[in-house]
Amino acid sequence: MKSSAAKKPELAQKLVYSFGDGSAEGSAKMKNELGGKGANLADMCQLGLPVPPGFTVTTDVCVAYYDAGKHFPEALAAQVEEGVAKIEAAVGRRFGDASNPLLVSVRSGARASMPGMMDTILNLGLNDATVEGLAAKTGNARFAYDSYRRFIQMYADVVLGVDHDHFEDLLDLMKNEREVALDTDLTEADLKELVAQYKEKVQQALGTPFPQDVHEQLWGAIRAVFDSWMNPRAITYRNLHDIPAEWGTAVNVQSMVFGNMGNDCATGVAFTRNPSTGEKMFYGEFLVNAQGEDVVAGIRTPQPLTIAGKAEGGDLPSMEEVMPDVFAELVAIYKKMEAHYRDMQDIEFTVENRKLWMLQTRNGKRTAKASMKIAVDMVAEKLITKEEALLRIDPLALDQLLHPTLDPNAKKQVIAKGLPASPGAASGKVVFTAEDAESANARNEKVILVRIETSPEDIHGMHAARGILTARGGMTSHAAVVARGMGKCCVSGAGDIRINYARKEFAAGGLTVREGEIITLNGSTGEVMLGEVATVQPNLSGDFATIMGWADEVRTLKVRTNAETPLDAKTAREFGAEGIGLCRTEHMFFEADRITAVREMIIAETLKAREAALAKLLPVQRADFVEIFRIMDGLPVTIRLLDPPLHEFLPHNEAEMQEVADGAGVPIDAVKYRAAQLHEANPMLGHRGCRLGITYPEIYAMQARALFEAAKQVAAEGKTVLPEIMIPLVMTRKELQLMKAVVDAQAKEAGFTAPYQVGTMIELPRAALRAGEIAEHAEFFSFGTNDLTQTTLGISRDDAASFIEDYKRKGVIESDPFVTLDQDGVGELIRLAAERGRATRAGIKLGICGEHGGDPASIGFCQRVGLSYVSCSPYRVPIARLAAAQAALRDPQ
Ligand code: PEP
Ligand code: MG
Repeated sequence: MKSSAAKKPELAQKLVYSFGDGSAEGSAKMKNELGGKGANLADMCQLGLPVPPGFTVTTDVCVAYYDAGKHFPEALAAQVEEGVAKIEAAVGRRFGDASNPLLVSVRSGARASMPGMMDTILNLGLNDATVEGLAAKTGNARFAYDSYRRFIQMYADVVLGVDHDHFEDLLDLMKNEREVALDTDLTEADLKELVAQYKEKVQQALGTPFPQDVHEQLWGAIRAVFDSWMNPRAITYRNLHDIPAEWGTAVNVQSMVFGNMGNDCATGVAFTRNPSTGEKMFYGEFLVNAQGEDVVAGIRTPQPLTIAGKAEGGDLPSMEEVMPDVFAELVAIYKKMEAHYRDMQDIEFTVENRKLWMLQTRNGKRTAKASMKIAVDMVAEKLITKEEALLRIDPLALDQLLHPTLDPNAKKQVIAKGLPASPGAASGKVVFTAEDAESANARNEKVILVRIETSPEDIHGMHAARGILTARGGMTSHAAVVARGMGKCCVSGAGDIRINYARKEFAAGGLTVREGEIITLNGSTGEVMLGEVATVQPNLSGDFATIMGWADEVRTLKVRTNAETPLDAKTAREFGAEGIGLCRTEHMFFEADRITAVREMIIAETLKAREAALAKLLPVQRADFVEIFRIMDGLPVTIRLLDPPLHEFLPHNEAEMQEVADGAGVPIDAVKYRAAQLHEANPMLGHRGCRLGITYPEIYAMQARALFEAAKQVAAEGKTVLPEIMIPLVMTRKELQLMKAVVDAQAKEAGFTAPYQVGTMIELPRAALRAGEIAEHAEFFSFGTNDLTQTTLGISRDDAASFIEDYKRKGVIESDPFVTLDQDGVGELIRLAAERGRATRAGIKLGICGEHGGDPASIGFCQRVGLSYVSCSPYRVPIARLAAAQAALRDPQ
């Protein structure tokens, strides 16, 4: 939960930090003030890399801007002016100078990277006079007017609010008239005319001319970047990634370099290793004679950087072939950067007349598979330690690796092929808009979002979809980058599909696929297949096994699983579970072969009738336990006696009621009467848990008997059984004392002589508070944080779903307390119970079996309070193993 708001610190005096020419006022350490991009630009300058000079306006200014109702702090103007003057001095051009103009880019840059979420403006500083100066100075009037028309479009769209479609339409019209296919085919005269048309469009739309004052342009752009911090897609992205709105964004103003001045110019994006597979190869794309956003926007199909990279990207010539000398320089620089940052870098560069400029670097986003491989490789290369490797991998991202992939032997009908942009496999119904994806997801339908290309507006639909298919765009297109970040399968640039949004269909491989039809994507090969394709279990050897091995070496918390079926128990054991921390026996009651006997037991009016029904249940329950004990040979198994209120098991329709009545030899009205009698107004707080055991001790006796007989049988097979019997929902010492007596009596009667333990769940605040006396009878505590969260916060888990998101948005809470332990409330009770329990019984075993046992942040908390194990669902076990290792590295016990 959120602590009370701290007082805002005074705004710092220094609001602008310059960089360039091998030095910088800021540094890599100043991410909070300069944002990720600004800090890295400063750092790259200090590394001696070729970075166009510029300055960063701090994130503090953004915060102050919003605090003051969107007004700039007074001190800012002079500092920005000084920043501009320094750029002018470094490059020998002047801002607004008609004969030798300085042009700048204006970009956002928050502490955490938010790719494509905020606004950028390029070529700022052009007007009717400076465009002529640029033409004269570069001797390239075509280039100058091309830059100007791009600037008008971008500035009008981002700052003035004139939609960029208007300009795209004019551009298309011009190309049609001139009968040319590419923007680059337009002549200087065409572009001049286009500039005139663009300015006219702005005048029409706003009733005022396009701003000619370059300082007005600059301030408009800075304001627009700050404003974009609060645009809906940035807000959505922040909510998805838990980035606080209070951080604000920095603004980077930087001297322009041009990748679009001719064929000895280019712009590109590179990863120092393959972000999909992690393979150690320089990897990326570039476009000759193009500017910045052209590569990521996915409008032209980019060319590969390396000859090796051509294998995937078709037959376009690589940078290695087209510009070998610049390429060699780029290779030397990327190696230097990787060694410096000791992590895979995602870099942007521009080549202006064969001169290489580095525009940006950051730690590259990668798939879980790539993050494993890169970590393992970097340890082998002695670039990082094992501990650093473990701390670098996001435990939750492992989820991507634990799920099935397409069966290579399954029959499949490939209808198109695109780029393998983000690996994994996904099947689902085709939808064509982000809105449709979201509403289908709300109906629990699996969908594949199919778009010509995606843009940041689609982000919510991408989140809702199982996979993403685009017709245009490369490996670094918006769709590819965002999908990889989300761990979602994506095939991009499938050029042979023809999408018709109006008819909600696409054509591929001679077929028409309509909205609602099922397709399958393979993000690792780029294949698009008709229908649903069979899958196989993942292979958890190789780098995955290596990382898990390292994790097991350092962690001190044990990891168990919550499992009640043999399949779950087996899966969990394969994933490395070190025992069962919670076997919920009621799940066994629902099986078809016994539910009738369970119901007879419930409607029984007399002890005799109840015992008759329980006698039918005993052998089936024993058989369940036998299987589980066999699978968990040598590992502890915590079995929880019956927990839910009885009405949950009752029949819902006449036919089922009749069946129960017949089995018990009573009229159907008796069943109905009993059902009405058992109805509870608030079942979560009702007659359940050990309260049932107190009322009907014979139920717990049957369960205990079944489990001891099973344990005895499996032990006789030569296996090691370590039963731990857990009593749920205890709130008083006496409850546990009575139930422990029932269990112990059954152990004796069953003749089970090996060691076993009896303990309790701590899932009520009273139990936590009275843990000292409860520990007199408990050999272990297992924190049932599902119920403990509900009972501590007074929020039911089911009802929370409807308002938790709103609570997060309004800042009432920082995270969902049913996902991440509420450390100030529920956590406080756990700390106290652990302390009081230990005071009574030193060395009492403490674990957690609520959902939080699989949440990395909560696992960190468990480490700090010194629990001995966490227990989570089978597919969370590897996540918990890694999270426990990270917890041990951060907080050694
Ligand atoms: C709990 O309350 O945390 C728990 C594990 O029990 P259940 O979810 O079955 O109520
Ligand atoms: Mg519970």
